[in-house]
Amino acid sequence: MNIQLDYNNITLQTISPSWLPENIQASVLRLDLLHPEVSGNKWFKLRYNLEAAFAQEKTRILTFGGAYSNHIAATAAACRLAGIACTGIIRGERPSVLSHTLQEASLKGMDLHFISREAYRVKNETDWNALYADAYVVPEGGNNALGGKGCEEILSLVNDTSFTHIACAVGTGTTLAGLINSAVLQQEIRGYVVLKGATYLEQEIQSLLNPAPAPLPRWQLLHQHHGGGYAKVTPALMEFIRQFYGETRIPLDIVYTGKLFMGFRQDVLDGMYPAGSNVLLIHTGGLQGNPVTSSAT
Ligand SMILES: *Cc1c(COP(=O)(O)O)cnc(C)c1O
Repeated sequence: MNIQLDYNNITLQTISPSWLPENIQASVLRLDLLHPEVSGNKWFKLRYNLEAAFAQEKTRILTFGGAYSNHIAATAAACRLAGIACTGIIRGERPSVLSHTLQEASLKGMDLHFISREAYRVKNETDWNALYADAYVVPEGGNNALGGKGCEEILSLVNDTSFTHIACAVGTGTTLAGLINSAVLQQEIRGYVVLKGATYLEQEIQSLLNPAPAPLPRWQLLHQHHGGGYAKVTPALMEFIRQFYGETRIPLDIVYTGKLFMGFRQDVLDGMYPAGSNVLLIHTGGLQGNPVTSSAT
């Protein structure tokens, strides 16, 4: 496999929005700038999976997602760059008009295979190789050990261990697991969960962590910042994203990074970050088809 993405596009940006007290520092790792189509954390989750597919001489990547999935968008783009065929198993019946995400994925050469919500629910128990013999299967959201391993590279892009806290949005928790495995012991890792009541996540993340006796930094999941649930949008969120963009020129998406930064503001105001904190926030991307960005820029 020979995809060259330019990690030099990724910047570390110090921010000082109006609500951030002077005794707390915050910086944003702009993974969203990695590549226009394979942006953010999805690349890191995919890269070792792609390598494994080539090593096993598979001829196709097969993966899963909904109509707005960032993972589907990133997989379609990465497979085109890598020169390997791909199939997206998409949740729900084929609509008469495809979403922007699915149109783009299809244009990049992804075969779309729609299945019912019932069939989607049991996708992990389905033998996809019976249908697609030479396919390498990547789980939904790139949530596997190789996905986590790829995310261990994210902090090496920063190469600065003076951050006291690292904060990241959490969907499956694969990215957070990679951060926990690669942070230094004095750092504290905080995951802002975008799903409501996703109490299974602690255990899923645990299963991706370096096994004992390897020491790990402190980490926790924050479950109170989902803003009503996955992909639920409130006027307060939209206003926050608009204002944050105005103050920092950093676009946020409505599903993940908007909730991370809005949750971070709340926690700062609630005193959850002590004076002297130096916080690294991971911008995981997710801006494809973002209504807020396209109107803001
Ligand atoms: C997929 C995604 C996440 C969630 O990552 P996990 O590793 O599943 O926790 C976070 N942010 C953005 C922008 C994403 O697209």
